[in-house]
Amino acid sequence: MPNTQELPTVKADAKSSVIESMQALGHEQVVHFYDQATGLKAIIAIHNTQLGPALGGTRMWAYATEAEALTDVLRLSRGMSYKAAITGLNLGGGKAVIIGDAKTQKSEALMRRFGKFVDGLAGRYITAEDVGVGTKDMEYIAMETRHVTGLPEFLGGGGDPSPVTAYGVYLGMKSSAKEAYGNDSLEGKKILVQGIGKVGHHLVGYLAKENAIIYVNDINEDNLKAVAAEYKVQIVDAASMFDLEIDIYAPCALGATLNSESLSRLRCSIIAGAANNQLADETIHGLMCQQKGILYAPDFLINAGGLINVSIELEGYNRDRAMSMTENIYAAAQNVFRIAKAENIPTINAAKRLAERRMEDIGRIKLSF
Ligand code: NAD
Repeated sequence: MPNTQELPTVKADAKSSVIESMQALGHEQVVHFYDQATGLKAIIAIHNTQLGPALGGTRMWAYATEAEALTDVLRLSRGMSYKAAITGLNLGGGKAVIIGDAKTQKSEALMRRFGKFVDGLAGRYITAEDVGVGTKDMEYIAMETRHVTGLPEFLGGGGDPSPVTAYGVYLGMKSSAKEAYGNDSLEGKKILVQGIGKVGHHLVGYLAKENAIIYVNDINEDNLKAVAAEYKVQIVDAASMFDLEIDIYAPCALGATLNSESLSRLRCSIIAGAANNQLADETIHGLMCQQKGILYAPDFLINAGGLINVSIELEGYNRDRAMSMTENIYAAAQNVFRIAKAENIPTINAAKRLAERRMEDIGRIKLSF
């Protein structure tokens, strides 16, 4: 795998062929599935299996084009490799996308057909829940394959991983505070949480316990009402939130919110949130954070609680073990910050390098008998 320090910004786009995109991002296998009867259109991307089978959720989304779906699955699967590697898990990175409207195009047959396709990969890819795929869908998928995790409790799984993810993000944020301010207390810190969904809501709970000053933003009024009913928060609108004078920005909605526009406006010292692929361009915006003196807690490191949770399910689920393994995120983030500071490189580069090194080192051990 190439060293990220020398990597140009990698883009899988409509102009590249599938194999060119795979080459650019270092993928092993990309499989397209189509089923005439159910209308299922899916792509599974297996990024790297040096550490173990590729694990990652299935996302169902009404992508405007197939190229858009491919770009998403390639980026997300690569993120899963880094996440598993840096977290110390013996798993590779993979992801699946189903092209379609999750509200109108789902059926039992479609999900079971998808499960059958996953089964055909014979365990090289293990699937789980993601955006647009819920508990009922997981049940259908599990009827056709055992290569599935993140199942509901009644099927022997760990249930919703969001509380574990939120705990990891909270600890990653505290670790960032320790680095930026010299101590990890969040008391009195002004924190903007964007996206008050499953993870964001739990995160606000942790921040409220520490007496942080919490700002929240969401496009879903009901989610805002629910959080405001439970905790002391100030609701802010999207137009002005990046102009607020804050200490910490926690992106917990969508990816790519860290772009040239938002970063030129943001006035904070830490970015630490749950969303995947927060940097619109890893190279440009990772560097921009560093140059602005903003400590960026790499997303794939601090949002790994969910992955830890589903990986434990593969061994027999135990929530205490999931929470205690998630606590390692604090020290892992300290390590990333230490390397980034010593080498004067963006934190994202330090984190990717650590992940790549583990994939290579352990991958080599696995080759020997
Ligand atoms: P969710 O769907 O429950 O919540 C997302 C929230 O973001 C919703 O309330 C939604 O209304 C809001 N939102 C969407 N677009 C928005 C916008 N433009 N502006 C403001 N708010 C917007 O999802 P979640 O499970 O809480 O996950 C949040 C993020 O964390 C996602 O990016 C997800 O991929 C990532 N993540 C989640 C987990 C997990 O365990 N759930 C694990 C790792 C990463």
